[in-house]
Amino acid sequence: MALPPEVCIRGAGIVGHTLALLLARERVRVALVAPPREGPRPEDVRAYALNARSQRLLESLRAWPDADHATAVREMLVHGDDGGRVHFEAGQQAVDALAWIVDVPALEARLAEAVRFSPQVDVVAEPVKAALTVICEGKASATREALGVAYDVTRYPQQAIATRLRAELPHGAVARQWFNDRGEVLALLPLGGEAGHEVALVWSVEQFRTSGLVAQDEAAFCDGVRAACADALGALTLTSPRVAWPLQRATAERWVGRLPVDQGGGAWALAGDAAHTVHPLAGQGLNLGLADVAELARVLKERDYWRSAGDARLLRRYERARRADVLAMGLATDGLQQLFSQTAQPLPQLRNWGMRGFDRLPLVKRWVARQAMGLA
Ligand SMILES: Cc1cc2nc3c(=O)[nH]c(=O)nc-3n(C[C@H](O)[C@H](O)[C@H](O)COP(=O)(O)OP(=O)(O)OC[C@H]3O[C@@H](n4cnc5c(N)ncnc54)[C@H](O)[C@@H]3O)c2cc1C
Repeated sequence: MALPPEVCIRGAGIVGHTLALLLARERVRVALVAPPREGPRPEDVRAYALNARSQRLLESLRAWPDADHATAVREMLVHGDDGGRVHFEAGQQAVDALAWIVDVPALEARLAEAVRFSPQVDVVAEPVKAALTVICEGKASATREALGVAYDVTRYPQQAIATRLRAELPHGAVARQWFNDRGEVLALLPLGGEAGHEVALVWSVEQFRTSGLVAQDEAAFCDGVRAACADALGALTLTSPRVAWPLQRATAERWVGRLPVDQGGGAWALAGDAAHTVHPLAGQGLNLGLADVAELARVLKERDYWRSAGDARLLRRYERARRADVLAMGLATDGLQQLFSQTAQPLPQLRNWGMRGFDRLPLVKRWVARQAMGLA
């Protein structure tokens, strides 16, 4: 790169790649830090539920995977632990899809390819000096820690198991979720296109059950899933390894600041999981991270021509705009998780009654659906 970069992005995950492409589109020179790996990275078995806002963003960057790797969700069925049920339909919400279930390796490959074709983006092994450093290193960010920024973590008493399954019956483009009375949530998300039989499983289970379920004999594990989903898709077989993730909710105490002089003294900002994490039950973590970088890119694009990318006023505007959204989502997912963790009556009865009541309120349902779709 002939000229030094204006923005250095530390962390080349989905959020870091997306920011690099957004800035490159505005002709901002970017260094994307991706330290070389030792050996191949294990394939991510997860599939993400992405909302309409994220879909439009990635599509505009030409990084949206093809229809086989980004399955449109036409219906969503959420089951309570005692007969409660909420049903969302794309048609009723006047949209084509409620969300898309996206194969993570396919999305990562599209983003990496788009970056390769961006002359404004230089992929580097080490951080470089720039007016603004954006930290997209994920929840365990070492740079955030070295800067002494507190990351206030609340751990949930569950862990999430993710894997892929092949189902006897077609999924019908329906995303299905079951809550039980111990705060456990099973999600079966449609993959492989609309007529597909493949589903991504995300099962948040009590911590003490995790290692047993991951190590369990495959047929017994599939029988357990079949029982937990009331046999919704017939016989199931595993098509990938099972991987467990700890679950947490966290927010960084500060999102913007200045680097020490010996590191160049430029400004820094956090984005994505480096700034916040939420429970995956609502499938919103990456959606929030993508909304962060969309907002940061917007603020930088609309700046006065004489302001640098590291201008403190701009960065505070970014922090204010994003914090409120992240707080609201964190509270909503936390509240849902808590609501289904209570076993003492009358809560179990009330929550299922509440779900049935909610299902009959089209306007409230529409409001909630539009929030989740990122269209509010
Ligand atoms: C089980 C599970 C299911 C989920 N499902 C959904 C879902 O359905 N929908 C949704 O929106 N979200 C979901 N999420 C959340 C989603 O996984 C995260 O929000 C998202 O991956 C965050 O992306 P990121 O780029 O910020 O961080 P990461 O994906 O963690 O990427 C960080 C990158 O930075 C690199 N890095 C780390 N340290 C350094 C360093 N010091 N220098 C340089 N590089 C560094 C890492 O190698 C990595 O490449 C789920 C999470 C879990 C655990």
